[in-house]
Amino acid sequence: MHAFPFTEADPIQHPGPPPKTSEVVIVGGGVIGVTTALFLASRNIPVTLLEKGRVAAEQSSRNWGWIRKQGRDADELPIVIEAIRLWRQLAEESGEDIGLTQTGVTYLANADKDMADFEAFMKIAAAHDLDTRLLDVDETAKLITGMSRRFKGAMTTPSDMRAEPWLAVPALARLAARKGARIVENCAARTLDIAAGRIKGVWTEAGYIETSTVLVAGGAWSSLFLARHGVSIPQLSVRVTVAATEPLPEIYAGAAADDHIAFRRRQDGGYTLAGGGSHLLYLGPDAFRHATKYIPALRNDPLGARYFPYAPSGYPDGWSTPRDWAPDSETPFERMRVLNPAPEPARLRAIERNFKQLFPQFEKACLKVGWGGMIDAMPDVVPVVDRVQAIAGLFVATGMSGHGFGIGPGMGRVVSDMIQGNNTGHDLSRFRLQRFYDGSPVRLGPAL
Ligand SMILES: Cc1cc2nc3c(=O)[nH]c(=O)nc-3n(C[C@H](O)[C@H](O)[C@H](O)COP(=O)(O)OP(=O)(O)OC[C@H]3O[C@@H](n4cnc5c(N)ncnc54)[C@H](O)[C@@H]3O)c2cc1C
Repeated sequence: MHAFPFTEADPIQHPGPPPKTSEVVIVGGGVIGVTTALFLASRNIPVTLLEKGRVAAEQSSRNWGWIRKQGRDADELPIVIEAIRLWRQLAEESGEDIGLTQTGVTYLANADKDMADFEAFMKIAAAHDLDTRLLDVDETAKLITGMSRRFKGAMTTPSDMRAEPWLAVPALARLAARKGARIVENCAARTLDIAAGRIKGVWTEAGYIETSTVLVAGGAWSSLFLARHGVSIPQLSVRVTVAATEPLPEIYAGAAADDHIAFRRRQDGGYTLAGGGSHLLYLGPDAFRHATKYIPALRNDPLGARYFPYAPSGYPDGWSTPRDWAPDSETPFERMRVLNPAPEPARLRAIERNFKQLFPQFEKACLKVGWGGMIDAMPDVVPVVDRVQAIAGLFVATGMSGHGFGIGPGMGRVVSDMIQGNNTGHDLSRFRLQRFYDGSPVRLGPAL
């Protein structure tokens, strides 16, 4: 296994060259691209997945590893319910240990307002037959042992799961490859070849692939890739900091969070930790272009983001990042093989402090590693999963807004059927691209 976090220094596991033709080409080797490739390959559909760096090296390995139904948008729930079934099936098919366990997810309440939010979700949970329940003060203290303070209560879903993302997504990529998907790492898609309003092919850094169908699942890069073709997605990305402890005695086998600290038991006996509070948004041209669409989210959570006037060089919304390029010249995608933001030192200190305040028995515990990630966000905190009306053969699945790992296999199955023209079995109208341009009001997903 590669050292964590993954970087472009890691060995290439899926070398090229890419084929000259492929029925479907997928741009992006995160959980969405990988699982879509897997389901297409399972149906014997020739599919090529292009990853500019390494499979799962961006969000799909850096995430917390929560697989949750709890707190989900009502329109995502049927898909994540399916995803939970698929996680089990795919983990078994992969034959690898990806750390998948059903240990529950719990949100802790500091205030009456938190309990009121949980109660609002209980109605959605009931409509979908979830095992979610509310806990009182004592039940909460019993569920998570050794906490230094008592919470007003909690909401918990015992059937929610966890897995180790850096094991899971590469394992699913190997499974997809065994089923016949052609995965090519270190190979950026540069531009689409479009003629008479239809996809004809994709220019990659390693040559041209003739195809009629492209899925863009490029995470934080999707908007930059598509804007050049006149497809506007109001997607921004925010930097977050995560850490892992050394192995510790178990205080809770699942994943839990309050406003200050999030913790998740890991397969190695440590905890993956993250802080509450705001994310860091680098202001760039897209942030200004799409600012009005983010006003409802800002009003809802004015302190949800901190701002920095510019991103490091080469970031998707950097001021100096080119917005246009030729198919035969280097693009921003291969200039940054892996978006690998440094963790913020002050955040790491706050994470450690908050964890130890809640669990004083771990006063001597050490953080063994810290890392950063860029979450690709949408104005309404739900993704875009759609075909692009103006360009026949072009599909997009992006903007998973910080919760795309758990739902990943469900989305992959849905998108593979969408590409094949089959009934997806779910109502996807909430995730249509045109919602941002047809006058629909921004309907915020839950910020739980
Ligand atoms: C710190 C953190 C914590 C999170 N915690 C959770 C959690 O607990 N549970 C949960 O469900 N979700 C969580 N998420 C969100 C989840 O990780 C993402 O929603 C999910 O991984 C997105 O998958 P993706 O495939 O859309 O994008 P990504 O994983 O970002 O993959 C996109 C890939 O596309 C590649 N790419 C881009 N452009 C090109 C191009 N032109 N050519 C070739 N390749 C290209 C990139 O290199 C990248 O590898 C978290 C995210 C972060 C950052």
